[in-house]
Amino acid sequence: MTDHLARATVFGVRAFAAITTDLVDEARRRHNCYPLATAALGRTMTAALLLAADLKTEEAITMRISGDGPLGIVVADASPQGSVRGYVENPQIDLPLVNKKLDVGSAVGVGTISVSRFTGLKQPFTGSAPLVSGEIAEDVANYLLVSEQTPSTVALGVLVNLDLSVAAAGGFWVQAMPGVEDEVVAVVEKNLAAMPPVSELVNQGNNAAAILKRIFAGMPAKVFNSSNLEFYCQCSTERVENMLVSLGPEELSDMVDEGESEIICHFCGEKYNFDRGQLQNLLAQAFPTHVNK
Ligand code: ZN
Repeated sequence: MTDHLARATVFGVRAFAAITTDLVDEARRRHNCYPLATAALGRTMTAALLLAADLKTEEAITMRISGDGPLGIVVADASPQGSVRGYVENPQIDLPLVNKKLDVGSAVGVGTISVSRFTGLKQPFTGSAPLVSGEIAEDVANYLLVSEQTPSTVALGVLVNLDLSVAAAGGFWVQAMPGVEDEVVAVVEKNLAAMPPVSELVNQGNNAAAILKRIFAGMPAKVFNSSNLEFYCQCSTERVENMLVSLGPEELSDMVDEGESEIICHFCGEKYNFDRGQLQNLLAQAFPTHVNK
């Protein structure tokens, strides 16, 4: 099953569901994540994709989980076209299981969730809220309530195999629009309460449409399939070269002296290697008047 996202609106209740197994596994491989980091990053990337699905075409979102736990910062960038990238500050930490479950809350710790919406204006709009549990789903729901006055139910799940690969990942976001009837909310809440964890639903082979149909069980749900989802990073040799040039002539010439450099993209783990000749060319092209010490 290819990663994908679907949406449905029934009687004033809106829901998005996403299957993200492959892209979470790709992030895990790229960053060599241990299971706690895979879970935290996978949940955050899935949440960012769900929120991004509600943006306009040219917009984008950055979700940042800044806790004081051993994982450090967790970041995900997502677009409404369904691309996402992300990283965890410390991908290789381990904590004891709690009730046979990964203790993501302790790994993330106490802190803040912030969400920046890039709307094409110069400054992004950034909102934030305190982390409630560090388990990400509750934190996202609390952020939506506190910062955007949007009461929501958010579920996020990542199931990790014994060989550390990702067995299943996905999530959903359910939101009651203003003026929705209490009876409708009651049915949806009853359905949500009866559902198994979302990672289990994905692991059983349910696609996003099937998850939405469970959320709206007993109601006429028309499901719209939108985008396929994928891990995608915009980094490139050219962008890394621009970044090196932006360091200025002094630092760049120090790098020439050192002989070679490896630049690793934070977001995707891609390695960019530059030898002395390439660095020298870059220096000469960008700063033709610079004289080496
Ligand atoms: Zn990258």
